Amino acid sequence: MRDLDLFQQALGLVAPWRVAACSFDADQRRLELRIDFERGATFACPECAAQGCRVHDTDEKTWRHLDFFQHQAFLSARLPRVRCPEHGVRQVLVPWARPGSGFTLLFEALVMALAKEMPVRALARLVGEHDTRIWRIVHHYVEEARERQDLSTVHRLGVDETSFRRGQDYVTVFADLDRAAAIFATKGRDAGTYAAFVEDLKAHGGQAEQITEVCQDLSEAFLSGALEHLPEAEITFDRYHVKAQLTKAVDQVRRAERAEHGELLRHSRYLWLRRPGNLTERQRERLEDLLRHPLKTARAYRWMLKFDHVYELPAEEAEHYLRAWCRGAKRSRLGPIIDFAEMVQEYWLGIVRWFCSRISNGLLEGLNSLVQAAKRRARGYRSTRNYITMIYLTVGKLDVAVTHSK
Ligand SMILES: [Zn+2]
Repeated sequence: MRDLDLFQQALGLVAPWRVAACSFDADQRRLELRIDFERGATFACPECAAQGCRVHDTDEKTWRHLDFFQHQAFLSARLPRVRCPEHGVRQVLVPWARPGSGFTLLFEALVMALAKEMPVRALARLVGEHDTRIWRIVHHYVEEARERQDLSTVHRLGVDETSFRRGQDYVTVFADLDRAAAIFATKGRDAGTYAAFVEDLKAHGGQAEQITEVCQDLSEAFLSGALEHLPEAEITFDRYHVKAQLTKAVDQVRRAERAEHGELLRHSRYLWLRRPGNLTERQRERLEDLLRHPLKTARAYRWMLKFDHVYELPAEEAEHYLRAWCRGAKRSRLGPIIDFAEMVQEYWLGIVRWFCSRISNGLLEGLNSLVQAAKRRARGYRSTRNYITMIYLTVGKLDVAVTHSK
């Protein structure tokens, strides 16, 4: 019987639980450990932990355990229900699994470790389980970790949108900029997502008034969401989103000019859009040559460089400089540049707020690569819920604990 003792120790079983039998099927590649409790054993009530509750009845149950080399291993037991004087008939807790799960805690711990590193579909294949069962484990532990999360100290927020499938099924991600962690993600990208965020914040020990800085892109929906639901927040428009609009304007000028100077501008898109420092020697030479021509694109490009300069200035000079830039750009006779300058004036407060707050979603863009990884891990499951769960697991910095807690 020594092999049973060995399994008993490996499983960490304590009385009244013991390994009663072990059957091994080489053809089925299956190891089954029969666990049982001693006759007359009593158990604690799962509700109040009162000791000495008598067994009322039992129910046969099997749990998938960690593989034993190349063999799948299962534990089986008759799971007792006890009668507590106070709580009536209740199913007891077993030390190797959480209630309702068909897997042991060790198996689930393995799943959670792997889910951080590989797509769920591949994980399911690796362990030989249907992926919906794997997703159920992942959802359980991520939700449980989120429930325990304390958001009472968050005060600087980054808000950005991402989509599960290109151009649709948008998800808005709220990140704690100080911890560089995604703290809330929800369907949609409208003002209502802010209401959902505040509700979640309250459920985690926080309140709307504690958010003093928000960084987000130039979207009317995000703007009205923040104004309505975060009363104390100063809004900074993310400088990378602002810059992206200007880059787009330069590109519009170039496209319009192609008709006239197609030969000269051929394959030049990259030269105008990248920072000069990111160009190769040859590309820089070609750009310098292009800049010598009387091109509208070249003029738009210079307006862009002048705009970029504002971010290098000390705060006290920056506003003055930007005001002058807008006045000049509006006289540039370059439609897209004029539109951009007008947009800067329209969203003035949120754009110049950066000189004071110095917050950007550059961090979120950094998180974005992780979000992309999350997307890969959720791929093949056209469910926003799966995607959001993967965002929490990969960029949420959650304290995922595989334990008995319900
Ligand atoms: Zn009880």
